[in-house]
Amino acid sequence: MTDRNYVEGKKPDREIPPDSIGNLEPAKGDEEAAGRTSPFWVKCWNCHQFLTRPLSPPQQQAYTCANCGAVNMI
Ligand SMILES: [Zn+2]
Repeated sequence: MTDRNYVEGKKPDREIPPDSIGNLEPAKGDEEAAGRTSPFWVKCWNCHQFLTRPLSPPQQQAYTCANCGAVNMI
């Protein structure tokens, strides 16, 4: 079994200012197929896809899923 080495995205329970929402990028298909996860991955609460978040800067608390457009809080 692999460790859960990623962040579970959460559905926002409050309004998030648009300027504090970053963008997630789709994970590379190969890596996802191999089951490799990283602490910089976010699993979208809505579509359950793995996406990568920028390594820096870490100020943003929410990211838009590139796959379905849902906002994920982390
Ligand atoms: Zn999504």
